[in-house]
Amino acid sequence: MTNYYNKDFYKVLGVAHNASEEDIKLAYRKLVRLYHPDVSKSEDNISKFKEIQQAYEVLTDENQRKKYDILNGYYRESIKKEFQKKSDQNKNVYDEFIKKSQKASKEKDIFSKSINEALDNLFHTKKDNTIKDREEKVVINGEDINLDINLSCFEAANGTNRKVNILHTGPCPNCGGRKFINGSECPMCKGTGQVSLQKKINVKIPKGVTNGSKIRVKKEGNKGLNGGKDGDLYLIVKIDKDPYWDTEGLNILCNMPVTPAEAVLGTEIHINLMENNLSVKIPPMTSSGQKLRLSGMGLSNKSKTKKGDLIITVQIKLPDSLSEEEKALYSKLYKISNKNIRKDINHVK
Ligand SMILES: [Zn+2]
Repeated sequence: MTNYYNKDFYKVLGVAHNASEEDIKLAYRKLVRLYHPDVSKSEDNISKFKEIQQAYEVLTDENQRKKYDILNGYYRESIKKEFQKKSDQNKNVYDEFIKKSQKASKEKDIFSKSINEALDNLFHTKKDNTIKDREEKVVINGEDINLDINLSCFEAANGTNRKVNILHTGPCPNCGGRKFINGSECPMCKGTGQVSLQKKINVKIPKGVTNGSKIRVKKEGNKGLNGGKDGDLYLIVKIDKDPYWDTEGLNILCNMPVTPAEAVLGTEIHINLMENNLSVKIPPMTSSGQKLRLSGMGLSNKSKTKKGDLIITVQIKLPDSLSEEEKALYSKLYKISNKNIRKDINHVK
């Protein structure tokens, strides 16, 4: 095997150290036209042509180029950093590789059996020496993702379906998680092997979730690498303020609007709550702010051993508009009402 350890093949072809295979082929074709033995059979020309040929052969062979890059230090820093992040076992493999490569460089025998073995160990493979393989044994589990989900109190109590946009990390589609492409750092993931991916998923929110509850969606967290487990997605329930509904612990609070006539005469109101058809009786002569408690109609605790109540607060409300007949009746009512409900207003302590 020819020793070319101290030759800069990139310089020979006039390309940068991170040149793509395409760039290398292009540069090679240009130079071949200039130095081909058909052009001149001078000794200088022929040795230059041989050099170009050799540079081309090494740099267009992915495996040879990788070894060449490593041995010439073009790769060394980035790979060292990479390996320092990994397990001690990998660090040992790297240290062993460096030792052997330094020895080989002294002996001017860079593709000796021992250095080839060290390289194979470094990349964990013999058959297919692509860079992805050096990561193969580092199993990384995907992390869990926590995401807030805003629900109305009614949705929280009754359950609902939600489309959730999640941003999780997964293997880079450009380099397939290998971090390098043609011997250069992958531009899409910047050599991390991972990118952020957006995904829309449908989530069923169970009924009876409370503020701060966590809903677990299995395997929708960050993706695992090299056979590692995918993380889970946790939706953290945030219950929005709502004019009618609120919760307090396991109790469901409801502000119930009633008309003045309903408040005076009493009425029966139907509500759908957690698959229960509830009939709520508003007794005659109910004032605004009066509370009605329906025991056991609230939320359940996790172990279902405790149930909260539904607490209704009556609020007398006027409709948006009144008919002429209604106005006439209110006018009559106004004239005949003689009870002063504000008599205590300045005397209440
Ligand atoms: Zn990539």
